[in-house]
Amino acid sequence: MVAGYAAGELARRGIAPGECAIISADAELPYERPPLSKSFLQGKDERDDILIHDRAFYERHGIDVRLQTRASAIDTDARTVALDGGESVGYDALVIATGARPRRLTVPGAELPGVFQLRSLRDAAAVRDCAGEAAAAAVIGGGFIGMEVAASLASRGLRTAMVYREERVGQRVFTPEISRFFEAYYEDRGVCLARDARVRSIDGETAVNGVTLGSGERIEAGMTVMGVGVTPAAELARAAGLRVDDGVVVDEFLRTNAPGVYAAGDVARYRDLLSGTYRRVEHWDNAVEQGRHVARMLTGDGAAYVHVPYFFSDVFDLSYEFWGDTDGADTVVYRGDVTTPSFSAWWVRRNCVVAAMVMNRPEEEREIAPRWIAEREYVSERRLTHPALADTT
Ligand code: NAP
Repeated sequence: MVAGYAAGELARRGIAPGECAIISADAELPYERPPLSKSFLQGKDERDDILIHDRAFYERHGIDVRLQTRASAIDTDARTVALDGGESVGYDALVIATGARPRRLTVPGAELPGVFQLRSLRDAAAVRDCAGEAAAAAVIGGGFIGMEVAASLASRGLRTAMVYREERVGQRVFTPEISRFFEAYYEDRGVCLARDARVRSIDGETAVNGVTLGSGERIEAGMTVMGVGVTPAAELARAAGLRVDDGVVVDEFLRTNAPGVYAAGDVARYRDLLSGTYRRVEHWDNAVEQGRHVARMLTGDGAAYVHVPYFFSDVFDLSYEFWGDTDGADTVVYRGDVTTPSFSAWWVRRNCVVAAMVMNRPEEEREIAPRWIAEREYVSERRLTHPALADTT
């Protein structure tokens, strides 16, 4: 995704043919990932609908896209990238956008046919094909993939169970009240929730037929999808001597410690001037914005990357958006009713909003949330709960 968005920005800025190459191990042209667990999985979008640019775009701008091509080493002194197969490519500037790899549970049965993870378009196509045949699915994990895939599979009519080790869904970002809302919403739509649960084994002789939990409970399922987090794919950078610490460490200009080498997207741990810390963000918006930003860096526009982290999610007929980072918040204020699909939540630290989630609320809340977070606006609880948010001081 970083490569697709960087290419778009480079083209907009008028790079000459032959000035940019994309080296990708993926078999497909750069594509959007959000639809993989949502509209693509539900059969509403096809491969061509989710490409960031079509093939003609890359041809028109003379961008050399090498698919199914793996980079095996970077030499930051010689400024070359070695490719599997022996070829070596030189660079003036290099962007490492290797993303992240999904974790796999190593429980018995994890290698059976019918056990999936969902990261690439190819993964999503395999899950979708299997969902067309299976009657029941077990989704392992209570994070983003778990929530979105469970909703998509249930919407397709599969009997769906969600198995997660946490006490509640979305535990890392949601408050208990928000988790409770989503859990009730899922259960009302027939999803069976197994909380606080460990997978002991994935069962089956030649293909999956169920999952056994640590408690001994068995869930019948003709397929399972694991969404148990990702690990930044930083091996190439580490081997090249770049600074790596839960991702490739970059400054506020997305520059690594090697001249001419940048990192962006899921793999990049960047210096965030808004929070004064280093952060790594594993969301679509981060890949889009850092992809565009790094293209601006390469073409001489050297501003710092300053951006409020953002993500969105769609589950069943719900859509919500989320800005900022809840870390260190001392208060959460709700607007609307958190037991219904129309509420917003505002995480506050010392009277400054640090994060906000907005679902089905007036447009002003969407507009205000990132602005107040970026500007560290002082906001009293009275103001946050006032009916007209924008008009109060
Ligand atoms: P995730 O959101 O980080 O959630 C992973 C979940 O798996 C967590 O609940 C985690 O629990 C649990 N987990 C970790 N190790 C486990 C284990 N050994 N056994 C059982 N559970 C385990 O990751 P994801 O859902 O796999 O998604 C993958 C990536 O795609 C993430 O980077 C995510 O941000 C991104 N994504 C984003 C969106 C979106 O922005 N809407 C949608 C889909 C995917 P603990 O909290 O206890 O560790």
